[in-house]
Amino acid sequence: MSSDGDPAFQVDLADGIDHQVAMVMDLNKCIGCQTCTVACKTLWTRGGGREYMYWNNVETRPGEGYPRDWEGSGGGWQGDDPDGEGGQPPEERSVGNVRPKRDFGGDWAFNHDSVFYDGTDEPLRPQADPEWGPNWDEDEGGGEYPNSYYFYLPRICNHCTHPSCVEACPRSALYKRSEDGIVLVDQERCRGYRYCVEGCPYDKVYYNAMTKLSEKCIFCYPRIEGAGPDDEVHGPACATECPPQLRFVGFLDDEDGPIYRLVEEWEVAVRLHPEYRTQPNVYYIPPYAPPQHNDDGETVDVDRIPREYLRELFGPAVNDALDTIERERETVMQGGESELMELLIHTDYAEQYRLEVFDGD
Ligand code: SF4
Ligand code: SF4
Repeated sequence: MSSDGDPAFQVDLADGIDHQVAMVMDLNKCIGCQTCTVACKTLWTRGGGREYMYWNNVETRPGEGYPRDWEGSGGGWQGDDPDGEGGQPPEERSVGNVRPKRDFGGDWAFNHDSVFYDGTDEPLRPQADPEWGPNWDEDEGGGEYPNSYYFYLPRICNHCTHPSCVEACPRSALYKRSEDGIVLVDQERCRGYRYCVEGCPYDKVYYNAMTKLSEKCIFCYPRIEGAGPDDEVHGPACATECPPQLRFVGFLDDEDGPIYRLVEEWEVAVRLHPEYRTQPNVYYIPPYAPPQHNDDGETVDVDRIPREYLRELFGPAVNDALDTIERERETVMQGGESELMELLIHTDYAEQYRLEVFDGD
């Protein structure tokens, strides 16, 4: 672990990593439109054995997610973790399993030909009877009317500080780039053993049965390097295409950036399943829902989204994060000012995608 030589420096970086890219997603803004999913799919996983892959997926919570029941896959690290925040150095890798293809839902053939070219009145529909698919349990949610609830959870590879996928590979085909901590699969070294697929507790490494190699989210590194036709630096496609612009992209160790302020100063951005202990570098502003109503339609002081459920997803830090958001929100409602609320509302896109701050380091 590096501390950058500065005693005031709080962010843990993996050994040998100069700076760590990170993303903060504000779940209060996600409308489940899947534009991010389509942007990623169009760019990186359109075909060639990648049809079933969604490097970016958006699942409804409560729900089983993509792939189905991925939280039951195992992987990650084990060892002492007294506060449930995954902060202790990992000790031993936990063995996971490789999900069968049916848990991803596969790719469905539709009756495009008959609808578009044969003049039929049939609606457009899958030709087989699908039994599962990405976000299959869309908007089912939890709770009882009038206190039912759901929210959307976008997921990509977390480009973890302690990536168990990297540790799992006996050929060192997976690695963290030294300049920004992005986790990549060296396609020349990979032999398709799938230890990385089994080792990732977030199920974010995918096996390509056509190339017989593993593949995963690359944090759109050619875009953030400015390798496109316009030579300009762009954020990852999932972030820049998002209609409500809910993702901040930058470096965790950029102390003047919004990511550092949300994660380290305000402590309102929390990790998904910190107990897996890979130390993800994708963070979430947890969903803040209005309180419940009683049978008379009056507002009562009971959380609509049970805290217990949010703690299962985001660990104990979600309590303080939600309390801080509630307090700052109340300040603004009373006519006061809140740096946190300004930060979350933001309209400054140069701040939202701070990817060139360490250029020339
Ligand atoms: S999310 Fe999974 S694939 Fe991505 S770096 Fe972490 S362990 Fe590896
Ligand atoms: S594009 Fe943005 S709002 Fe739409 S599903 Fe993705 S993260 Fe949510």
